[in-house]
Amino acid sequence: MENSRLPSRWDETTDVLVIGSGFAGLAAAIEAKSAGSSVIIIEKMKGRGGNSIISDGNVSAAGPLLQKKDGIENSPELLYNDMLKAGLGLNYPDLARIVAERSEEVLQWTIDYLGVKYKERVDQFGGHSVPRTYITYNQSGSGIVRALFSKVKELGVKVRTHAYLEKLLQDTDGLVKGIRIRDGYVFPDAESGTPKCMKARRAVILATGGFANDIAFRVIQDPRLTRDVDSTNRAGTTAEALIEAMRICAAPVQLSCIQLGPWTSPDEKMYGVGPLFADYIVFTYGVMVDPATSRRFVNELGDRKACADAIMNIGTPCIGIADTEGIRQSGQIIDKCLKRGVVKSFKGLEDLAVAYNIPLEALQETIDRYNSYVRNETDEEFGKSILKGSKPLVNPPYYGVRLWPKVHYTMGGIQINTKAQVIDLSHQPIERLYAAGEVTGGIHGACRLGGLSITECLIFGRIAGRNAAQW
Ligand SMILES: Cc1cc2nc3c(=O)[nH]c(=O)nc-3n(C[C@H](O)[C@H](O)[C@H](O)COP(=O)(O)OP(=O)(O)OC[C@H]3O[C@@H](n4cnc5c(N)ncnc54)[C@H](O)[C@@H]3O)c2cc1C
Repeated sequence: MENSRLPSRWDETTDVLVIGSGFAGLAAAIEAKSAGSSVIIIEKMKGRGGNSIISDGNVSAAGPLLQKKDGIENSPELLYNDMLKAGLGLNYPDLARIVAERSEEVLQWTIDYLGVKYKERVDQFGGHSVPRTYITYNQSGSGIVRALFSKVKELGVKVRTHAYLEKLLQDTDGLVKGIRIRDGYVFPDAESGTPKCMKARRAVILATGGFANDIAFRVIQDPRLTRDVDSTNRAGTTAEALIEAMRICAAPVQLSCIQLGPWTSPDEKMYGVGPLFADYIVFTYGVMVDPATSRRFVNELGDRKACADAIMNIGTPCIGIADTEGIRQSGQIIDKCLKRGVVKSFKGLEDLAVAYNIPLEALQETIDRYNSYVRNETDEEFGKSILKGSKPLVNPPYYGVRLWPKVHYTMGGIQINTKAQVIDLSHQPIERLYAAGEVTGGIHGACRLGGLSITECLIFGRIAGRNAAQW
């Protein structure tokens, strides 16, 4: 406790301190500054932008923009129900409802206020009952993060890198008054840099992301997720800020709800290029088969948990298969996937079966059966949504990828209320401490749907920023 006492002298003072420079932190900083506060963003890494900047830039919303044009029925209620279904009902209803209801508004904010450009299309990802996922023009979260950084700069908010949040500092009444950082920190050395105390006249906002790459911490929550299980996340995605919040009694929520991405390949490190082929093409227009039997084993458009659990139950990487027509329909270019050898091209199903050492006759039967489902627009085995205009898998070359899940996202985190205030173990807000983004828990329950982290980070980041500025 002693080393978290308030200092006799502060090294620096500002109104609002934001910890973390991803979607949530940047959105919070913009709102706090726009509401009249001075703001400093603290970032421990050399590179800014966290996982946000390397994300795919998929934003799911119950908005009508393109969907109206395409005649897609969508509504906040439908999105909310999809979230609860995937989340196995563990979602905190009031928080999930805010995400569903404000998703359209926040998407529009990125367009009107930040100037983000999206492709003229909406995709349907696993667990969503309709196509409702928009993608940035450059198919990367950097399309939004760069726009956020431009706005932050325009507003005069400073971003301090190599600055590591070490302690949250409270007064004797429990009010968070500031933080202690290690200035000049070099990842991952927690002893590096010089201790400095920064005062927040109004509030502190935690936007420090998830803990997918904190092996020691994630193993405590889920003993299966050892070092042997790869992660899609950047190296700095670790739990120390979450642990510090828990030290001052922030309530931990569902920390063992850790998401594995079912579209990753064991033939490359981290996220790589496999997901581009698997998520946008195989899952929508193709099939996944068990290599032992060449049979499908799951609804490829099921949510991430359903798909990842099904692959892991097989016990070895499964094979994702699509044809040339599927690639054409997806509008994706897979040159990078082929060049890196993660996705392979085959003249026919025979070559594919030989390359992956899977039974050919059964594979042909699986494909024939799947093609009949496509023609009849009904998947009799697994109930997959057959998208309008989908074509049978009959157009070689065929393409294949090996798939094995990797740790992707942590649904659990600290508890917040609808005002983004951090809640403690006696159910009270910790005064002057807010949180937003992946560091928080409960919104997505057991499974986050694709494209909903960006939506959630921006919505709750903005709420946190606005409320923090009001102290
Ligand atoms: C490869 C990949 C693709 C993805 N694609 C999508 C997608 O298309 N759509 C979608 O909705 N979601 C996607 N996600 C998930 C989404 O990107 C993240 O959930 C989201 O970016 C989290 O944002 P954040 O602001 O909470 O945290 P982050 O963006 O991770 O930012 C947190 C920041 O806090 C810093 N920090 C942490 N601890 C400290 C500390 N002690 N002191 C100071 N700074 C600290 C970190 O270094 C980091 O920069 C993807 C994730 C990955 C890994």
